[in-house]
Amino acid sequence: MSNTLNVKSKSKTEFIDITEEIRSLVKEAGVKQGICHVYVPHTTAGVTINEGADPSVKRDIITALNRLVPFEGDYQHQEGNSAAHIKSTLVGTSQIVLIDEGKLLLGTWQSIYFCEFDGPRHRRVLVKIV
Ligand code: ZN
Repeated sequence: MSNTLNVKSKSKTEFIDITEEIRSLVKEAGVKQGICHVYVPHTTAGVTINEGADPSVKRDIITALNRLVPFEGDYQHQEGNSAAHIKSTLVGTSQIVLIDEGKLLLGTWQSIYFCEFDGPRHRRVLVKIV
């Protein structure tokens, strides 16, 4: 079973919490024991799992990534969005979460974030539940 989530980012760099949408897909799938694979088919976006309780954590991650990979630099890519490509590779484009008793096995403080690095744009997140 495979699903597509449509995500609309509003900023150049933004983390969007998609945990509840993915929980709903897992519930609909009716899989009791399995794996949920979350995949972002883009070269300037990513997906990560981190704290969802305190919003300053995602803000701090974004600030640190922007410091690590500045928007302007000695880049050759003509499109002018090399920083976004590099951040996509650093963060990665997929995550796997285990499913037990029909529920995602996320830690208490964990949320799943779609990571926009070259927004605002319409994006897709592919979710495969097996
Ligand atoms: Zn590019």
